[in-house]
Amino acid sequence: MTVKAKKYLGQHFLTDESIAQDIADSLSLEGYKDVLEIGPGMGVLTKYLLKKDTKTHVIEIDTESVDYLKNNYLNLADRIIEKDFLKYDLNLVFKDKPFAIIGNFPYNISSQILFKTLEMRAQIPEFSGMFQKEVALRICSKEGSKVYGILSVLTQAFYDAEYLFTVPPTVFNPPPKVDSGVLLLKRKENYSLPCDEKLFFKVVKTGFQQRRKTLRNSLKTFNLSDSLKANTIFGQRPEQLSVSQFIALTSLIENDIN
Ligand code: SAH
Repeated sequence: MTVKAKKYLGQHFLTDESIAQDIADSLSLEGYKDVLEIGPGMGVLTKYLLKKDTKTHVIEIDTESVDYLKNNYLNLADRIIEKDFLKYDLNLVFKDKPFAIIGNFPYNISSQILFKTLEMRAQIPEFSGMFQKEVALRICSKEGSKVYGILSVLTQAFYDAEYLFTVPPTVFNPPPKVDSGVLLLKRKENYSLPCDEKLFFKVVKTGFQQRRKTLRNSLKTFNLSDSLKANTIFGQRPEQLSVSQFIALTSLIENDIN
């Protein structure tokens, strides 16, 4: 018995064992014991995680997949969470312990998976997984690149992001329409920002809402003083600013509005 893929759940089952193993092997497993796999499906990746010296938990929304896992991975049975990752309170399982996140993610919610990870970054030292290639590249891209944006800046403020490898549609059942890409995030040693973090998120999101405009224009809603807006940084477009420049910009704004 296998699980019949459900499109509305973003189910594309990986059929290439060596790619599953490469993804599982990408985690360093340093400094934590627990790993959470999001969307295990029929467990192609789970199988390799279970061979490691780690405590693997999985969270899966699809009852049919959960039944499959329960029947085929007996030693996993009490660590299967049958829930929606986006809605589930992970502290119920991990309390305040650190854990890594891994998965061949459902692409329809991949940005939301990343945002939830950023929110929980104090507990998540490592994150590895498969996204649509285009999204994975965007997360890892640097200033000056056309695809540099909100996901890149917010992620790289807290994590070092590395694009690992590309995966073609042919190794999935059913095949997705696009290439996939695997990336690895390693939390920075110092992941607390020297500026107001809420304001940082707001500045980055607002700045990129109009990526063709200068920051002077796109950040109008902050009602900044003329003397601050005379600073040359406001003459730049958001895609030109590095992560540390966004942090510096937030500090300037913070001083100006307080
Ligand atoms: N890891 C498996 C399956 C990938 S497909 C493999 O590589 O073969 C994505 C999986 O995510 C599916 O099993 C789907 O049911 C699950 N999923 C989709 N939305 C989810 C959510 N909100 N929370 C948890 N799992 C979800």
